[in-house]
Amino acid sequence: MKIIRSLRTIQKISQQIKDKGRSIGLVPTMGALHVGHLSLIRKAQIDNSVVIVSIFVNPIQFGPKEDLNKYPCSIKQDLAFCKKEGVDLIYLPSLKDMYPKGYSTFVNVLGLTDGLCGAFRPGHFKGVITVVNKLFNLIHPDIAYFGQKDYQQALVIKKMVKDLNIPVIIKVMPTKRERDGLAMSSRNIYLSPRERKEAVLLYQGLKLAGRLIKQGNRNAALVINNIRKFLKQGKYICPQYISIVDLKDLKPIKILRGKVLIALAAFVGKTRLIDNIIVKA
Ligand code: AMP
Repeated sequence: MKIIRSLRTIQKISQQIKDKGRSIGLVPTMGALHVGHLSLIRKAQIDNSVVIVSIFVNPIQFGPKEDLNKYPCSIKQDLAFCKKEGVDLIYLPSLKDMYPKGYSTFVNVLGLTDGLCGAFRPGHFKGVITVVNKLFNLIHPDIAYFGQKDYQQALVIKKMVKDLNIPVIIKVMPTKRERDGLAMSSRNIYLSPRERKEAVLLYQGLKLAGRLIKQGNRNAALVINNIRKFLKQGKYICPQYISIVDLKDLKPIKILRGKVLIALAAFVGKTRLIDNIIVKA
């Protein structure tokens, strides 16, 4: 497994791979790798000749009051994990390479970033889209892999790729969960044992909503209220948003029909977690 830190080298090697007619699958991550990331890596291995995993905690996607400084970092374990899983190449960009002094170019997607996480994390998606754009420009992957857990992020990246005519396919893989249903996340390690136990309520709340819809409830406000009431049993849980939105434009839906996204963000103690499910009404 090659570990590359230099921008010039990743450009050169990616070009060499492409020149040989081999395909590149890119899995962009912020590290603290878990089974959720692994599912993207595995799929990338099936689809491509070469898999590149990038690990970069991208400062410009964090707000001033967010957890940039304490974001979990386990680079040694991550490298061992990737090696064991047969990843071909790891790209560890340096901050200086990505945002040299005087850096001033940002990419944004309007509209899709207004609601859900975008409403509570101003500038977050601008930071994500900018870094993903840079990775695409450096590596020119044939396919890039993202997780459904960050549904809004994946949709926004798809839109950026379409609008900017970037020749890459975006694949979105299902959310990997712990045994009890909690969506796997690098941030789960922040949870105290009590918070961790309670955090499962987030997924259970989504499942409850799914059942209500399957039973014929079509009133989104009523379904959302039921999730809110359900989450009240959590001592440490403080929901930030609970929304039912259209899968394509992420606009809130009042009367449910067809496939919809039920998405939520909540603080469990001090840790902000997100989750979602897709349900057919
Ligand atoms: P992160 O390192 O948290 O930025 O995540 C890197 C990629 O892994 C993103 O595309 C995430 O959506 C994806 N990912 C994170 N958690 C999961 C999960 N539990 N299941 C599937 N994909 C995930």
